[in-house]
Amino acid sequence: MAYQPTIGLEVHIELNTKSKMFCGCLNDPDERHPNVNICPICTAQPGVLPVINKEAVRKVIKTGLALNCQIPEYSKFDRKNYFYPDLPKGYQISQYDKPLCLGGFLEIEGKKIRITRVHLEEDTAKLIHEKDYSLVDFNRAGIPLMELVTEPDITSAKEAREFAEELHLIMHYLDVSDADMEKGEMRVEVNISLSKKEGQLGTKVEIKNLNSFRAVEKATEYEIQRQAELLESGKKIIQETRGWDGIRGVTVSQREKEEAQDYRYFSEPDLPPLYFTKKEIDEIRAEIPELPQHRRERLKREYELEEKSIKFFVYNKDSGEYFEKVISELPPNLPEEKLLKLIKLSSNYLITDLQGLLKGASPAGEDFLITPENFAEFITLIYKGEISSKIAKQVLGEMFSTGADPSHIIEEKGLVQITDVAEIEKIIKEVISKNPKAVEDFKKGKENAFQYLIGQIMAKTKGKANPQIVKDILQKTLTKIK
Ligand SMILES: [Zn+2]
Repeated sequence: MAYQPTIGLEVHIELNTKSKMFCGCLNDPDERHPNVNICPICTAQPGVLPVINKEAVRKVIKTGLALNCQIPEYSKFDRKNYFYPDLPKGYQISQYDKPLCLGGFLEIEGKKIRITRVHLEEDTAKLIHEKDYSLVDFNRAGIPLMELVTEPDITSAKEAREFAEELHLIMHYLDVSDADMEKGEMRVEVNISLSKKEGQLGTKVEIKNLNSFRAVEKATEYEIQRQAELLESGKKIIQETRGWDGIRGVTVSQREKEEAQDYRYFSEPDLPPLYFTKKEIDEIRAEIPELPQHRRERLKREYELEEKSIKFFVYNKDSGEYFEKVISELPPNLPEEKLLKLIKLSSNYLITDLQGLLKGASPAGEDFLITPENFAEFITLIYKGEISSKIAKQVLGEMFSTGADPSHIIEEKGLVQITDVAEIEKIIKEVISKNPKAVEDFKKGKENAFQYLIGQIMAKTKGKANPQIVKDILQKTLTKIK
């Protein structure tokens, strides 16, 4: 029997603010030394008062707006009371009934996944468990943490992964978080239940702390299978929290939920409530850049790029922006067909050859020397046939290391293409007389003998001969030989 999975996500994301949520300590997730970025506030000394980090509030609102949420004009912080060794105050400052953002959605492959809320809270300290003792590092305590909750609109493991990937990309576009999952800057929790009929809900199981897109997909897949097998054999699903064991590829029970925990939420008395004017919200809205989905659609419409190239330019945001700058530097008033060819050529060189040179660095980096204008000139030279693809590689390498303009490089290094028919004919004759065996093979119908001869000619001219002219003349010369 087929079961219908109902899946909702809860995602925690550490914001990339300069300082922590309620004190002036540095928010540095890369700090290697424990307990360096700490103060009386984030270690919960008696008598201290928290102060709200405005930048963190703005970043959550920016995220909410980008995800089509409503921003209520009134919001507040609450205390969530529970005791845990990584929580020195004995409570976490979070948001309960008045979150910053309500009711948005994120579109995945044309399907709207509704977002219930996005709120702001503080991260806890980090516990390091040794063999017979545990250590606590307060560097993470008080880092601004955004929590996003979706409605249970997701129906497959693939969709859960796609949602996480798209959200991650949006975090980068908005510059609100580095969202490095390996470092725990973005942590996903999957809530999943199975039922026989759509609209009916089964028993909910939570899978906590998923630290990679792969883990989100694999853990969800596994859990759907596990629950379906239990139901099929007439067993009951236990409401519980499970963890993902990536090595064994299984989810494991962590604790059973008897009843909802009572956190005795109450309004944080040490922090003022937040009120926003329309003007303040509009200012934040104006800071939102073009988002991935919009860019995808525009790249397709404006440049007619292939899906693969669009994916690359949307995911590698800086390369995408550089690509558009190059296109804007192409010669003006080109006929449509010619322009599209140049666009495709630019996109190909940016995605393959340039990436090879960049080795993971960004074209937005300070030490990247090729101006969009020079890159556009480079592409035009290839298109006009003034340099072969072999010489192009050499020129691009030189442009990359010196930032020089391509026509200068070509002139200076003597890389101008040989298009003089008489000169090419002369070289072909030489090659033919030195390779009688290949000529004979060609006469017997061996196609690779022809390629071999082309290779010899190109080697002799150091790749400078125009390949099309070489091909044509070689073909003609060979047919003349009896
Ligand atoms: Zn502090």
